Amino acid sequence: MQPDLPHIIEPTRLARAGQTLAGQYAIEEMSRLGERLFDKSGLADFRLEFERDEELDITFITGEISAKVSMICQRCLEPMTLALKCPVYLGVINNSVDLSILPDSCEPLYEDDSPVSLRDLVEDELILALPLSAMHEMVDCEAGGLLNEVNKSVKESPFSVLKTLVKNQTNNNRRR
Ligand SMILES: [Zn+2]
Repeated sequence: MQPDLPHIIEPTRLARAGQTLAGQYAIEEMSRLGERLFDKSGLADFRLEFERDEELDITFITGEISAKVSMICQRCLEPMTLALKCPVYLGVINNSVDLSILPDSCEPLYEDDSPVSLRDLVEDELILALPLSAMHEMVDCEAGGLLNEVNKSVKESPFSVLKTLVKNQTNNNRRR
């Protein structure tokens, strides 16, 4: 789709060249993300800027990744679409560096273990942005109507459950 997108990136070199990488990946190309989704269609858009802070000796990656993904609603078990928008703020460091030098809310990206794959970076950020359990808004949820009914009946006679309990307790006591 974009033959000029590199597979492996060298963040510090990109930063020194003042580069920004932007493009798209098909979600079906990202298998670890795909296995968490209801269907693997669609695209992820990304835009990443590479900047160098020579004083701190850190390369920063900032930008945004977005994608529309489909997951199963854990309340009604129907598919739902989620619009993911992940702000990216990464500090590229090696293992020997103390994490505390990173600014607040900046996440570490370790570059010494393995080369940085651009697609893995995009995929990892999207996986982190997925909710642990996806659910429709109550008004849009198939199960919402049912839950509202239950809530309504509880509201109308909140003590009926208690009354039944007390009655059973009394009967049990009489039997003793
Ligand atoms: Zn639902």
